[in-house]
Amino acid sequence: MRAVVQRGFGGPEVLGVETHPDPEPAAGEVVIEVAACGLNHLDVMQRRGPAKIPGFSLPHIAGMDIAGTVAAVGEEVSTVRPGDRVVVNPAVPCWTCPVCQAGDDGYCPRTKVIGATAPGGYAEYVRVPATNAHRVPDHVPLAEAALVPTVWTTAWHAIGPVGGLAAGETVLVHAAASGVSLAAIQLARQLGATVIATASTDDKLAFAASIGADHLVLAGAGTPHEKIVAAVKEHTVGRGVDMVLDHVGPATWPASLFSLAPRGRLVFVGDTTGPTATVPLEYAFHFGLKLLGSDPYPAREFTEVLERYWRGGLVTPVDREFELAEAAAAQARMEQRQAIGKVLLRPAA
Ligand SMILES: [Zn+2]
Repeated sequence: MRAVVQRGFGGPEVLGVETHPDPEPAAGEVVIEVAACGLNHLDVMQRRGPAKIPGFSLPHIAGMDIAGTVAAVGEEVSTVRPGDRVVVNPAVPCWTCPVCQAGDDGYCPRTKVIGATAPGGYAEYVRVPATNAHRVPDHVPLAEAALVPTVWTTAWHAIGPVGGLAAGETVLVHAAASGVSLAAIQLARQLGATVIATASTDDKLAFAASIGADHLVLAGAGTPHEKIVAAVKEHTVGRGVDMVLDHVGPATWPASLFSLAPRGRLVFVGDTTGPTATVPLEYAFHFGLKLLGSDPYPAREFTEVLERYWRGGLVTPVDREFELAEAAAAQARMEQRQAIGKVLLRPAA
């Protein structure tokens, strides 16, 4: 098979197309012909180095969000058959350790992540445990199914199980045109919340409005946080928001913190602009602010998110599709923050 292999850390040039033997399924595993693989910022961060996820090793095949057709199944596989259309949950817990046995598989210390610590979907074929391959209904194209795993589970886990967003509340979502944000905006609207979205260009704001954002705030890299906070206060009659979803990090952290209403929740996940942010303690305790890290999702939530997505009414716009050999260009597109919606690789196209 052809695969895009990362053999070092650096720019897009460390990715090269190589020919490898097709994977063979072991017992309990399936091999999937990859129809589509969604890109994520983690792909880019792990390419630049240092590795983000414990267990990462070189050479590496990236690609966590995989949809395709089952090509072969190993022994003891009864849940899917060759020819089935499936989408992959990239998180692979061990299911046998005490943490998994207690139902807390998101924290399994032996978790592997397909496309992050195990070979992923930047390839014509990928090998995964059968329990991670979920059937895709006939009405959903595989190219759309490949957009769902990481961004929709990340967004849902953050604003639902972690943040507890409720009908009638107001949430601030940064970087509205990014994958996690476009999912969060739509999920928040489904939950009955009001959404204030920030983005760096008018095009991205128009996009945010098209997927349901109620209020728009133009905010680029150089926008002072006071300006964003003032706009948020204007849209909330001076009160601030009940929740902020921040997956950007230090660049948006002050705007997030100071946009909160008393007892507001700052739900944070991801650190694309740096590893450290500061909290003015007196401000935070005086206003009863809650800082909620969004941890890894358990497998059952992946199933819930798929069911929610398959029911319809949610969209994941595709920014652009690339052929397998164009993986470096696809990553560059994400890296330059030009994308509106998701970037897709089409290995078997
Ligand atoms: Zn485990």
